[in-house]
Amino acid sequence: MYSDIKKNIERISATLPDGVTLIAVSKYHPAEAIEAAYAVGQRHFGESKAQDLRVKEQQLPRDIRWHFIGHLQSNKIKYIAPYIHLIHSIDSLRLLQEVDRQAAKIPRTIDCLLQIHIAQEETKFGLTPAECLAMLDEGSWRSLAHVRICGLMCMGSNTDDTNQIRNEFHAVKELFDEIRNKYFTAKESFSILSAGMSDDYPIAIQEGSTHIRIGSDIFGPPQKG
Ligand SMILES: *Cc1c(COP(=O)(O)O)cnc(C)c1O
Repeated sequence: MYSDIKKNIERISATLPDGVTLIAVSKYHPAEAIEAAYAVGQRHFGESKAQDLRVKEQQLPRDIRWHFIGHLQSNKIKYIAPYIHLIHSIDSLRLLQEVDRQAAKIPRTIDCLLQIHIAQEETKFGLTPAECLAMLDEGSWRSLAHVRICGLMCMGSNTDDTNQIRNEFHAVKELFDEIRNKYFTAKESFSILSAGMSDDYPIAIQEGSTHIRIGSDIFGPPQKG
């Protein structure tokens, strides 16, 4: 079963253009599955539960780059702040301020993405484009010395309508360009567009994604636990 992981990573990696980073989403999969991916050179992994991540981080090699992709509760930031490589799921100024506060205690600077709500579904988290622009306009994020906003993250709608998915990714790329030009000119660090999962990553890459988050296409369906 773990031999499939190697094949899947090699198959997906072979299709990726230069400059696109593959994040292997290992949520609900055991450390052994991560080790199988690590053995073929995979270093970026995504997790969505702070407590699970804390356990895995302690068991697994130090040079793994951990991405936090799930809904982040303020009281769980402390579990990931010391080592997290990138938080994809900032959806309020309050959360960003709280990450800054925890990062200052260590001290380190934590790279973050603003999660944009673009899909049709009601249940998905994130800032609407208008909320995101309002937050950046308000300006107090500029004084947070221990977080760095490096780009945007989004999830496409869960639908077979590929036109709709393409339109959503396209809209987020336009928002990304607008935000970069307006608030991050001359900042090389604002460079990450995290979009695309197992079912839609080829479309996301065509529309400008730089970081794809692939779970089931690498590890199989999530295991219970
Ligand atoms: C689970 C998850 C993924 C991976 O989804 P797959 O469809 O299994 O590739 C990507 N992004 C987020 C935010 C997730 O929660």
